[in-house]
Amino acid sequence: MAGQKKDWKFKPPTRPNGKNGKDPQPTGPFGGFQFKFSIGYILTMLIAVSLFNYLIFRTDNTLVPYSTFKEKISSGEIKRVEIDLNYYTGYPDKKNNEPSSPLPAAAKTGAVYKTVPIDDPGFTALLDETGVVYSASPREGSAVLSFLLNWVLPFGIMFLVWRSVMKRFSGGSSNVLAFGQNKATIVAEGDIKTRFGDVAGVDEAKAELVEVVDFLKNPGKYTDIGGKIPKGVLLVGPPGTGKTLLARAVAGEANVPFFKMSGADFVEMFVGVGAARVRDLFKQAREKAPCIVFIDELDALGKSRVSGVMGGNDEREQTLNQLLVEMDGFDATSGLIILAATNRPDVLDPALLRPGRFDRQVLVDRPDMTGREAILKIHARNIKMDDTVDLAKIARSTPGFVGADLANLVNEAALLAVRAGRKKVNQDDFNAAIEKVIAGLEKKTKVINPKEKQVVAYHETGHALTAALTEGADPVRKVSIIPRGFGALGYTLQIPLEDRYVVSEEELLSQIDVLLGGRAAEEIIFGSISTGAANDITRATDIARKMITEYGMSERFRHVALTKRGAGFAGQNAADPFMTREYSEDTQKYVDEEIAKTIAARYDHVLTLLQNKRGLLDKIAATLLEKEVIEEAEFVALTKDEQKEQNPADSMTTI
Ligand code: ADP
Ligand code: MG
Ligand code: ZN
Repeated sequence: MAGQKKDWKFKPPTRPNGKNGKDPQPTGPFGGFQFKFSIGYILTMLIAVSLFNYLIFRTDNTLVPYSTFKEKISSGEIKRVEIDLNYYTGYPDKKNNEPSSPLPAAAKTGAVYKTVPIDDPGFTALLDETGVVYSASPREGSAVLSFLLNWVLPFGIMFLVWRSVMKRFSGGSSNVLAFGQNKATIVAEGDIKTRFGDVAGVDEAKAELVEVVDFLKNPGKYTDIGGKIPKGVLLVGPPGTGKTLLARAVAGEANVPFFKMSGADFVEMFVGVGAARVRDLFKQAREKAPCIVFIDELDALGKSRVSGVMGGNDEREQTLNQLLVEMDGFDATSGLIILAATNRPDVLDPALLRPGRFDRQVLVDRPDMTGREAILKIHARNIKMDDTVDLAKIARSTPGFVGADLANLVNEAALLAVRAGRKKVNQDDFNAAIEKVIAGLEKKTKVINPKEKQVVAYHETGHALTAALTEGADPVRKVSIIPRGFGALGYTLQIPLEDRYVVSEEELLSQIDVLLGGRAAEEIIFGSISTGAANDITRATDIARKMITEYGMSERFRHVALTKRGAGFAGQNAADPFMTREYSEDTQKYVDEEIAKTIAARYDHVLTLLQNKRGLLDKIAATLLEKEVIEEAEFVALTKDEQKEQNPADSMTTI
């Protein structure tokens, strides 16, 4: 475990530019600030403009009311009036000494009156009457000046700032990554210690990627024949199956630089930043080719552009478009390979999956039993274990576990051994760890009221007892009414004896029965049903729908599939919401009715089944209420005398 972890501690990320790179920090008056530019910028502008206006148009003159101004004219105090665009200025002398000065120097000679003119047709008449000399200065200079100062200058400054910002976005210089934070991690050639040997249980995916490594090492081998090297490889699979690990292994094996970025890193608040990051990433990658660009969690930026009720997200769309452009823009022979990983291929934009982009999709699936054993071996390499540990047995009892779960399991077991003061991990530690990982940490502290607890107890007993009474149902390993994480109030753990890839019709029906058992028990005991069964109902309905639409198990469409299987999983129409149904309204109606009929019939069946075993139901529920947990052995002891009921093979048709 410990050894495995080491690989994942990156060296402090080397930035492709900035601090230790060749590009100096942006210079200039606005070089230093970053995201807060808009507010600071606007404030500065406002202050600067008003200061300017104040300085230029500052008046030393006494601004008087218009009426006062007229009075001063009548009283003869004003001998001369100058009329300009904004003001009437009254002077006590008749000499016109400084005709065009914007700042009347007359101010210092004595009383100069100034007023803001109002529309007064009698004004000139008054001036004539009193013999005041008046002149209107066109003051063109001033008007132009004020226009310049008020409008041209601020906009000029704004434009300059805007341009300096835009330059950083698009100048092709890598300064954009200094804007905000550069999140691309470059791991140089030879720095990655992960090898294919560190990944197990995903052999098909590995085989495909071995080929990718070969492309990078000997491109000639493929191009000589005329073959095209794939540009993009998309790793698809559930979380924790080792997609990121595989990508690193590819880089480690190919011994080329590795650019790693998460899809979420591209999505920023500012429109354009993500697109600029994509551009920059590819620019650098092209310089370093042959190399690998790895985009983890591609779905964060590659979400289908049509999906979403509220229309699109501009920023993400731009980023995605940029990615598409970049992917189209390089030559497959350039030695640049794009790896991406996602666990939501269904939401990806179909454009990403077109040939020439991520044209190769590699399924990284949950490991099977032998795969799990191999993964356990990898993670147990550095763990001290005693002879009791049987990894094969652990692998057998952990179906559905992915690589990350198994890594976690090994670690938990080691921690449990340490807690118990042992020097070596034994099988019991592993068994305890399995439980821990399966069900999350027990939260004994959470209190539910006694009535709720009773409902939960009967509900879980209903599941468990139905499983015990039904042929083909997976055996019950544990029943518990201890609340777990994820909001579950109780659970019934059924683990199949082996991994199964083919499930028979009877088994599917028995799965539905077991799911409905919880609610049926509630109805029998309390005469009412509760919301606690919501998840069971969903799953049961799901199975019934699949039986009809996918597995061809209905009466009318026996052996006929109504949907394309796998259409939701990386298929060509994966993200097209209009392509999922391929049958008529009429058939849809039939499907809906058939689902309802199936569920109703199964529910009746389970209801009768449990009613007939009312005594046993009470007994198990009482035990559960008392002990909170019933383990497999005890459960088998409680139900060993019961006969299993066979589900008729053609039960769907007889409904
Ligand atoms: P994903 O990217 O598919 O969600 P990761 O690659 O991040 O999963 O896996 C997380 C961790 O789980 C890895 O670092 C590794 O320790 C372990 N792991 C997952 N899958 C495997 C595997 N197939 N073989 C070995 N270890 C694995
Ligand atoms: Mg990952
Ligand atoms: Zn339930």
